[in-house]
Amino acid sequence: MFRISTLLVFLLCTVQLRAQNRICGSADHLHDMELSSPAFQNARQLIEQQTQAYVNNTANPQRSTITIPVVVHVVYRLASENISDAQIQSQINILNEDFRKLNPDFNNTPAAFQNVAADCDIQFVLAKRTPNGDSSTGITRTQTTVTSFNMSNQVKYTATGGKDAWPANQYLNIWVCKLSNGLLGYAQFPGGAAATDGVVCSFRAFGNTGAALPPFNKGRTATHEIAHWLNVYHIWGDDAGSCNGTDLVGDTPNQGAEHYGCPSFPSISCNNGPDGAMFMNFMDYSDDACMSMFTQGQKSRMDALFIPGGARAALLNSLGAEYPSPACGIPSNINTVFVSENDALLSWDLVVGASAYPIRYRITGDTNWNVLTSSLNAYILGGLNAGTTYEYQLMSNCTSGQSAWSNTQTFTTNIPAPVCALPSNVQTNNITPTSVVISWDQAANSQGYTFRYRTSGSSNWLNIPVIQNNLNLNGLNANQAYEFEIENNCSFGNSGYTSTSTFSTLPVPVQVCSDNYENNNLRILATQIQTNSITNSMIRTALIMIILNSAQARPNQK
Ligand SMILES: [Zn+2]
Repeated sequence: MFRISTLLVFLLCTVQLRAQNRICGSADHLHDMELSSPAFQNARQLIEQQTQAYVNNTANPQRSTITIPVVVHVVYRLASENISDAQIQSQINILNEDFRKLNPDFNNTPAAFQNVAADCDIQFVLAKRTPNGDSSTGITRTQTTVTSFNMSNQVKYTATGGKDAWPANQYLNIWVCKLSNGLLGYAQFPGGAAATDGVVCSFRAFGNTGAALPPFNKGRTATHEIAHWLNVYHIWGDDAGSCNGTDLVGDTPNQGAEHYGCPSFPSISCNNGPDGAMFMNFMDYSDDACMSMFTQGQKSRMDALFIPGGARAALLNSLGAEYPSPACGIPSNINTVFVSENDALLSWDLVVGASAYPIRYRITGDTNWNVLTSSLNAYILGGLNAGTTYEYQLMSNCTSGQSAWSNTQTFTTNIPAPVCALPSNVQTNNITPTSVVISWDQAANSQGYTFRYRTSGSSNWLNIPVIQNNLNLNGLNANQAYEFEIENNCSFGNSGYTSTSTFSTLPVPVQVCSDNYENNNLRILATQIQTNSITNSMIRTALIMIILNSAQARPNQK
């Protein structure tokens, strides 16, 4: 009985101890990777050289805060492993405290170490866009049949029941899953393959709510693993307490083995008194509630990754933390609002994010487009040919790029309305005392003319319809001023009358005899008059004689 009880207590203690001790796989994982990959080993050496060069440079420029886009891949078999968004966000919040020295429990840091504590000036944000540029919560959820995962990276591949990484040069990948054998998490140090880059955390040791269990329910597992991912080693140098190991950081005291639970200050080992070991450093193995700081030296190692050429520098150019730009929409609701003979007014709906709208148009059937750009969501196309069919397309210009061209729209310009032209070039010719010839140019679309005239100053017109573009006007009074106007008559209307033109008929000519009258009346002395001729003679008042010397002769005028 006693033996059984003793055995039972021992088993319980073992289970309890295993459950309560922090187990980070990163150092072993790093060791395994270096053993299996000379290339990784070389990459690690190069990164360490860069890091030491940076750390030893006393003139490093001040940098601005680094924001790292994070994607959390939740890989779960049971619903309880499918942790909530709130649990994930609690972890992000904790990271943003711990890496900014904003954690409230920093006050628990012994005064002896506070002066080397660092604001690492790194913040984390759940990704707002996928690698494809689609909107994202920064969380993926993958159901798996895998009961639990270990450090074999099985969780990092969809094909093995996990979830493929997002591009490691744009995101920090964090896989959250059930881990076997009490493993709280492990990280891949810089220099490894992109497909496995990131950190893995137990769903029981992530954030400070939901499925997180004490004593690892304050989010320090992710803080610790991400520091590994940022090239920071365990503070005791992974030397199993030999005091020979180093974390390659100058301001962390050398210490023996890792600490578990919640040590009391000071914890002296390796002759590091009086202040002892920095067991409250995030890179020891203390419980979550007893961790509170990174050092300036640890921060420098992180910083070295982000200088030009640094192993994590590409993250500085990631757009993962930014909302995706709205797609540059194709203009819609396109209308040809108004068409005239030579213009067309186009309009369309505003496109969100568009700064301008390229327009291309052409006569339907032409090969080449005319291209122009409108800054508004309307445009008047000018200089068009009348009675012609055109086609056009629109696109949008956004800061994120251009949309595709819209569907083709068509319109036909108007045919000009026919004009019933006014008669022009009106001329008067061959004016006599009683007649005149009036002519004008043939007017467009004429089917005839209305000619009207009157003596100047009178009120009534005399209308004469005319077919041709001229008129022989007879029966006029001599020596009379006339005025006239002409109207073109078309099938679709009249031109209206021309402005008034005038002419005056000639006076009747005064006929004057040129010969002298005869002063005798003797027949034999009479002047001979030719037949069929006109003879002008003065007639004497005393005696009128008309002498004809021929039967055909007749007086015409006397
Ligand atoms: Zn670790």
